[in-house]
Amino acid sequence: MSKFDRYEKNMAFGGITQEQQEKLMNAKVLVMGVGGLGSGVVMNLAALGVSQIKVVDSNVVEESDFNRQLIHKYKNIGRAKVISAKEWVCEYNPEIKVEIDKIKINDLNYFTTVDGYDIIVDCFDNFEAKYMLNEIILRHKKILIHGHAKGFYGQVTTIVPNKTGCLACVMQKPKNFEDEQHSSLSPVVNVISSLQVQEVLKVITGAGEPLLNKLLTFDGHKSEFKTLAFSKNLACECCAEAEAEATY
Ligand SMILES: [Zn+2]
Repeated sequence: MSKFDRYEKNMAFGGITQEQQEKLMNAKVLVMGVGGLGSGVVMNLAALGVSQIKVVDSNVVEESDFNRQLIHKYKNIGRAKVISAKEWVCEYNPEIKVEIDKIKINDLNYFTTVDGYDIIVDCFDNFEAKYMLNEIILRHKKILIHGHAKGFYGQVTTIVPNKTGCLACVMQKPKNFEDEQHSSLSPVVNVISSLQVQEVLKVITGAGEPLLNKLLTFDGHKSEFKTLAFSKNLACECCAEAEAEATY
C-alpha cells in the first residue's frame, strides 16, 4: 500500500505527476461558504487529495438547499452547514483534516479566520461578502479563487495580489449592495465549482495556466464559455487601499 494508491488515476493518462500529487496532499485550502458552490468545491478538493480543508459558513441546512447543495444530507436539516460538510468529508476520506468555523466573516474576525491559509475559494452567494473577501485577500496577500453562479450564468477568475487585477478591477464595486442572495441550478453551480477547483489544482501544482487577469464566463442557456481579459485598474479603490496599508 502506498499513500498514492487512492490517487493513481489522478496521475494517469496525462494527468498530474506524483510530485504534483504530493503537493496537493500537503496543501491547505480555505472555502468561504458551503452552499451550492462550496458543496462542489469541498467535494472536489477532497477527491483531489487536498489534505486540509477549512470551511466557513454561518448558515444551517434547509430543505430549499437540496436542489444544488450536494454535500448536505436530508438528516442534517437544521444543523450547521459546516458540520454537515465536515461529516461528508470524514465519511469520504477520514485522513483529510477538516477545520470548521460557523461564523459570518467580518472586520473583527477575518484575521483568525484566514490565518494559516494561502488559498481561499470564494463560494459566497452575495456580492457584498464577495467584495469584503476581495479586500481581505488584498490586505493579507492571499490567493482568491473567485466564483459566482446566478440562474443559468456563472463566472470564475483567479486573483493574485500584486500580480493580477482584483474583483473590483474587473467588476466595479457598487456604492450600495442590493440585499440579495444569488443561487443557481445544480448543473450551473457544479460547472462553476468544478472550474474553481481546477484553478486550485493549477495554482497548487503549477500545472497548466490559471485564469490570471481572465474572467471565464459560462452561459448555461447556450452551454457557452467566454474569456474576458482584464488588467489591474489603476483607479481601483480596493487595490489602492490595500497598497496604502502595506506601505504604512
Ligand atoms: Zn483592484
